[in-house]
Amino acid sequence: MSSVRPADQAFNREAIEAVLKRRFFYGPAFDIYGGVSGLYDYGPPGCALQANIVDTWRKHFVLEEDMLEVDTTMLTPHEVLKTSGHVDKFADWMCKDPATGEIFRADHLVEEVLESRLKGNLEARGLNIDAPKEDDKKRKKKVKEIKVVKLEDEVVEEYETILAKIDGYSGEELGEIIEKYNITNPGSGGKLHPPVAFNLMFETAIGPSGQLKGYLRPETAQGQFLNFSKLLDFNNLKMPFASASIGKSFRNEISPRSGLLRVREFLMAEIEHFVDPKDKRHKRFKEVSDLKLRFLPKDVQAAGKTDITEATIGDAVSSGMVDNETLGYFLGRVFLFLTKIGVNPERLRFRQHMANEMAHYAADCWDAELHSSYGWIECVGTADRSAYDLTVHAARTKEKLVVRETLEEPITVEAFEVDFDKKKFGPKFRKDAPKIENFLTTRNQCELENLGDELTKDGKIVVDIDGVEGKVEIDSSLISIEKKTKTEHIREYTPNVIEPSFGIGRILYCILEHSFWTRPEDSARGVLSFKPLVAPTKVLVVPLSSNEAFAPITQDVISSLRKLGISSKADDSSVSIGKRYSRNDELGTPFGVTIDFQTVKDGSITLRERDSTKQVRGSQKDVLAAIQAMVNGTSWEEGTKDLNVFEGQQE
Ligand code: AMP
Repeated sequence: MSSVRPADQAFNREAIEAVLKRRFFYGPAFDIYGGVSGLYDYGPPGCALQANIVDTWRKHFVLEEDMLEVDTTMLTPHEVLKTSGHVDKFADWMCKDPATGEIFRADHLVEEVLESRLKGNLEARGLNIDAPKEDDKKRKKKVKEIKVVKLEDEVVEEYETILAKIDGYSGEELGEIIEKYNITNPGSGGKLHPPVAFNLMFETAIGPSGQLKGYLRPETAQGQFLNFSKLLDFNNLKMPFASASIGKSFRNEISPRSGLLRVREFLMAEIEHFVDPKDKRHKRFKEVSDLKLRFLPKDVQAAGKTDITEATIGDAVSSGMVDNETLGYFLGRVFLFLTKIGVNPERLRFRQHMANEMAHYAADCWDAELHSSYGWIECVGTADRSAYDLTVHAARTKEKLVVRETLEEPITVEAFEVDFDKKKFGPKFRKDAPKIENFLTTRNQCELENLGDELTKDGKIVVDIDGVEGKVEIDSSLISIEKKTKTEHIREYTPNVIEPSFGIGRILYCILEHSFWTRPEDSARGVLSFKPLVAPTKVLVVPLSSNEAFAPITQDVISSLRKLGISSKADDSSVSIGKRYSRNDELGTPFGVTIDFQTVKDGSITLRERDSTKQVRGSQKDVLAAIQAMVNGTSWEEGTKDLNVFEGQQE
């Protein structure tokens, strides 16, 4: 069962928004106080849909792949996020209009203004813009907001190139674009200040003294990294392995809009797959290598294009477009998960990050982007974070976050080492001695080689060391730096991390849009064609009327479904059966069971399918067995093949 929106039916955002509001899928938080942008509450169907998505996620990833789930705290001390780089770099660019005080997210503003100019150009050339034809009132309104101006062909090309590269610009570059293309406050036309960085973390103080500065976490990942050694132990020191976590994250978005797509508090599900940097093969790669995905590689974007390359994951990895098997494996698993829960595969693409767009920690990154009426949006980011996080936390805490592997054959290695003349070193530097020693022992091989050269050449080295005042001079009577040959029986390495990171709210919203349509015969009758797997309620039970004879049977069907673990609801209100069905179509309930006078006579019940409104009839036992099979993924045709087609008039 998939979305059955007729091919010629334009998507109508107003219609779906009306359904989502009326049926309380979700709504603005603190509504009666006027609301706060970027904060939402989920109502009963939204909660059930989210719970089913999360449940599927857990089965698809945590159970299927034997991942180690952790639940870590959201409040995070400053030190941790300083070390991870978030305090300094987790920022977006914002521009202020000094006249009105309004603040804009720079990249979004550029995007919005250029897109609107391109639409105005289309309109000026008499070409249709994307508003639905039949909805002319709305279309006119939309067009009015757009300045109808004809653009030169080269300007159109420039705009399109900027839009294709929009995610990759630095603050300075955005400032230049804003200046060059005269982008101003769209409301007032006022000139804007150049973009400045705005850190997205919510700051707080932990404890009553207010001295322990902290933040609400912007991702769940750090909690997983900090528990790395415990998890490796738990896994009997076996590599590779993955941890997983589901929990809230917080980002103080500059101008949240687009409903659930950009919020300030959201549910994340993240996986950290720890892998040997020298061997990023995946033992289950074969299971996904023939899957064909729609890729948008970085070089295509850098050329200002958005053309899709369709390729199997096997080919994408072997050609080097996707860096390694493990990354490719997870892209495949992400695809299977998203389509399993009802994402339309034609509205899903994997976009590679451009070099300057990559997060401060990432080595390669592919976003699963979903298309909605708001355009393409990242819903799952799959990044190769290399050894970045474990390395920085280890350096800061002096805890070794490494894997130690006994080598089958010992190996001989050459490495630079520092030797100290302790008798002279301690007295010379006194209280600074431990800091200086630590500085020297934590240099990498390349740095040690350079320091060694300096020591040989000048008879001393001169360095800056955090926490030690002034330049530190260390001469060759105190230390030596030499290349030594050693036999090693143990290989010690910091694992690399491949991280698929899911924003559940974004996925949920896209599923809502991908599933929504209206009955062609009546545009007021909305349907959400959820897959049974994620539908908030699986079965609606409707007695034909309020006749007393139906009540015990209704109860019996409900409690039998409950015993099978299938969520159901009875609707014994007095409105027509058709009306009762149609209001549950809006909730995405895939199956309906009708109890009528025939049921009282022979125990048979009718089963109705939401999208096709087809009906079949059979004994209660057979119908429930069919429902159970279909909830678990069997198709309607297969699940109901032994039941009788029912032509009774109930719509
Ligand atoms: P990131 O760490 O920025 O790659 O984000 C990981 C995932 O979190 C994204 O793929 C989104 O699905 C989700 N996400 C990030 N920011 C937001 C937001 N402001 N609102 C909703 N979801 C978000």
